[in-house]
Amino acid sequence: MEMQPLYNIKINCAYCENEFSTSRVRPSLKRAIRTDSDFCGYYRELNPDYYVVRICPSCGFASTENSNDRLTERQRNEFAKHIGSRFVKRDYGGSRDWDNALETYKLALLCAQTIGEKERIIASLLHHIAWLYRYKEDHEQEQRFLKHALNSYIKVYENEGAGDNDARLMYLIGELNRRVGAYNEAVKWFSRVINDKRIMDAAMIRACREQWALLREEMQAKGEELTEEVQG
Ligand SMILES: [Zn+2]
Repeated sequence: MEMQPLYNIKINCAYCENEFSTSRVRPSLKRAIRTDSDFCGYYRELNPDYYVVRICPSCGFASTENSNDRLTERQRNEFAKHIGSRFVKRDYGGSRDWDNALETYKLALLCAQTIGEKERIIASLLHHIAWLYRYKEDHEQEQRFLKHALNSYIKVYENEGAGDNDARLMYLIGELNRRVGAYNEAVKWFSRVINDKRIMDAAMIRACREQWALLREEMQAKGEELTEEVQG
């Protein structure tokens, strides 16, 4: 018997309490065949990232598994005023193509910004939207969303300070700076990870060294002068 690549889960909408189903990719099919230096994954068949956002077909409330189950009164009012009243009923259950995936991420971003969701969730949504444009080789839109994601990750860093995932967050801020061509900023973040004696995450330290070396090559290829900081 052939296994279906998608399965359904039931979600209770945090806004209207309607129960709806949304599809997920089977865990056994979730392994990426390759991953970019900013963790963008490429998959042989279905892309599990297309199924991250869950949208209530009755009210349009969009969330991810990291969202809060409960909304405050203020959040409810904001959602109702700005999104709920305008949502055209539509079911995003079942399989999704690239266009559906982009729609779900944009709606999730709008919801998250409207209700003042945790910055970490907003940053991740912006980063995923950049990846979607990367798959399509739309460089201009990819860069636009990478810059938004970068600003959002910096806010996460400033708000939350030193957490367990700090090295990964700092690496990501460095790497997104490199990808948008802000080389001096990128080096600042890479060198923080490499030089901070409290950071024990060997994989992230190695990644920072590698991307710093790549950055030097890129600058030389472009004929840009290497400052003392960039040379390291
Ligand atoms: Zn709902």
